[in-house]
Amino acid sequence: MSTLEIRDLHVTVDTEQGTKEILRGVTLTINSGETHAIMGPNGSGKSTLAYSIAGHPKYTITSGTVTLDGEDVLEMSVDERARAGLFLAMQYPVEVPGVTVSNFLRTAKTAIDGEAPKLRTWVKDLKQSMADLKMDPAVSDRGVNEGFSGGEKKRHEILQMELLKPKIAILDETDSGLDVDALRIVSEGVNRAKEATGSGVLLITHYTRILRYIKPDFVHVFVDGRIAEQGGPELADRLEAEGYDRFQAAPAAAT
Ligand code: ADP
Ligand code: MG
Ligand code: MG
Repeated sequence: MSTLEIRDLHVTVDTEQGTKEILRGVTLTINSGETHAIMGPNGSGKSTLAYSIAGHPKYTITSGTVTLDGEDVLEMSVDERARAGLFLAMQYPVEVPGVTVSNFLRTAKTAIDGEAPKLRTWVKDLKQSMADLKMDPAVSDRGVNEGFSGGEKKRHEILQMELLKPKIAILDETDSGLDVDALRIVSEGVNRAKEATGSGVLLITHYTRILRYIKPDFVHVFVDGRIAEQGGPELADRLEAEGYDRFQAAPAAAT
């Protein structure tokens, strides 16, 4: 049983207009086996939360804490975060020409487990997971994300989650740009990985449609750098019907 605990997190980013506070006190606890959906309008700070937990250098934590089973995540290097069992889907979306998917995944698995996986079981697991995700087996010999379509990138993210077996997985807009078939395949992959590993999942999304396939236990509505409302799956249904309007501040009067 693992717990990711985010306490009163404040994060700023330096922009051309100066330093801007994006996260304004986020508190959230994710346990193994739980699925939390973070939903919210564009620009509300959802990706900033994911990048901050990932350790992206652009984001400055000004106060608050993030711990994984009591260990200070914010003190860890990006590699250490992965070894501790955090999986951040946006950590690997860059193209890595010349490094094949198969080598990349085996290297990541070795780094995280502290030992190389046995070749025979590894090849079998990789083939099985790729088949489950309906990925062309030839993709394993291609450069990471090199010329990947949007759908292939998303499948590759979930392939990583299935093989790396994280304690907590953070998936940012895994649904964006997927057609209905791809959305279902990717969602089923997340559900399989969750079931096999017992991972806790933080699923960040703007739209409710992925929640038809990945059932959240908790829904958090993110507005203006904070959680504005929390509830169960019924909150997602309400958002689907009503949108985010009731959470948005009325526009300031013109002066
Ligand atoms: P969301 O994922 O909810 O759409 P983001 O976290 O991407 O929101 O962005 C929140 C706000 O922070 C936006 O106003 C965005 O312009 C700003 N922001 C985020 N990252 C950066 C950055 N690296 N540089 C400048 N501004 C940023
Ligand atoms: Mg935002
Ligand atoms: Mg975003």
